[in-house]
Amino acid sequence: MNIGLITIGNELLSGFTTDTNASWIGQEVSKFGGEVVKHITIGDTTDAIIAALDEASRVAQVIITTGGLGPTHDDLTADTFYIYFNDQPVFDEEYWSYLESRFQRFGRGIPRINRNQALKPQKGFSVPNPVGSARGLHYEQQGKHYFCLPGVPREMKAMMNRTILPWIKSQAGEVQVVKTLRTTGIAESALAEKISVDIKAAENQVTVAFLPQIIGVDIRMISPNKAWLDALEQRILPSIKPYLFGTGNQTLEAVLGNQLKAFGLTLAVAESCTGGLLSHRLTNTPGSSEYFPGGIVTYSNAMKMNILGVKEETLNSFGAVSAETAREMAAGVRRKTGADIGIGITGIAGPGGGTKDKPVGLVYIGLAVEAGTVAKKYEFSHDRETNKLLSTQAALNLLRKWLYERK
Ligand code: AMP
Ligand code: MG
Repeated sequence: MNIGLITIGNELLSGFTTDTNASWIGQEVSKFGGEVVKHITIGDTTDAIIAALDEASRVAQVIITTGGLGPTHDDLTADTFYIYFNDQPVFDEEYWSYLESRFQRFGRGIPRINRNQALKPQKGFSVPNPVGSARGLHYEQQGKHYFCLPGVPREMKAMMNRTILPWIKSQAGEVQVVKTLRTTGIAESALAEKISVDIKAAENQVTVAFLPQIIGVDIRMISPNKAWLDALEQRILPSIKPYLFGTGNQTLEAVLGNQLKAFGLTLAVAESCTGGLLSHRLTNTPGSSEYFPGGIVTYSNAMKMNILGVKEETLNSFGAVSAETAREMAAGVRRKTGADIGIGITGIAGPGGGTKDKPVGLVYIGLAVEAGTVAKKYEFSHDRETNKLLSTQAALNLLRKWLYERK
């Protein structure tokens, strides 16, 4: 089913807001048999909305708009829909009382400007909004369906999940099966090389896309037939196994958290150049307190010595950015916290601070366990924030490999 997507809002054009709605909708509809074949982004003007509706309906059977449903003067999408479909909306007393009581529950009176959110189409339908005040619209014209949704991502998603995606599923003849395999620690081209023969052999059955991100590469497989998709997965699995950490939208930190829980292991971290980012990522997973007693940011040499017990002579002989320091940080935080596993990260995030021997992007990561302590050297070549992110990913990947070999 061909879908035309129109994202509306001046803030999207100015770059003030990133258009996350478009990426979410594109991915979600594909799971229910839809495909976005055209995406138009426009500002909040009636003329632009009408032109975009015309343009999208030339190539799509279903047109979805997001944005411009707020109560203020710059929100024009609903009014433009009424013009486009030649409709005269009526005031919906029942919905207005509902809105009044909703606002009262939050301890507020309802502003009069919200009255336009209580309008109800006569020729079309309202789309319920389970989490906000602006309802959406649904019109049918010449066999094509038009849905109008708010821009607020939380509300848009709730309405898509509740009404539009089930509707797409019911209309789309052939539902595609989608599976995403998530890898890390290997570049897109190297990954593609390992499995290109298998992908080519299945090209009439499964469409494969490589989706590279800074911390890993996702392999997305789409097929009308689950057996075909499963067969391709089984064929590529042996080649990608060392890099594969999860599926769908699982994160590396969540997958590792589950493994630590299953093994009954705890992890503590000592961070220098990542400034707490690894602790942040670990604590993004609900329930992380079960395996993560905590992290320590030791940025200065004094803190590395006083808190983690890194030796002064280690710092003097090898420097703060060295395999030896990373090992002592990992061992120190493990000892201090009594955790089963300690990780230590030290490096030069940049842009300054690099030397010929120790360039920007040089990072050492130590892993301390009962059997001993190892350190690994990494050379990243990005900007400061990316180097920090890559360092946390490398640390998690080091842990992943250790857990993998331990099994
Ligand atoms: P609305 O009042 O329906 O125009 O929704 C406006 C709110 O939703 C603003 O906070 C926008 O930043 C946000 N928003 C609108 N469109 C998008 C979009 N395509 N992606 C992400 N956020 C959006
Ligand atoms: Mg808006």
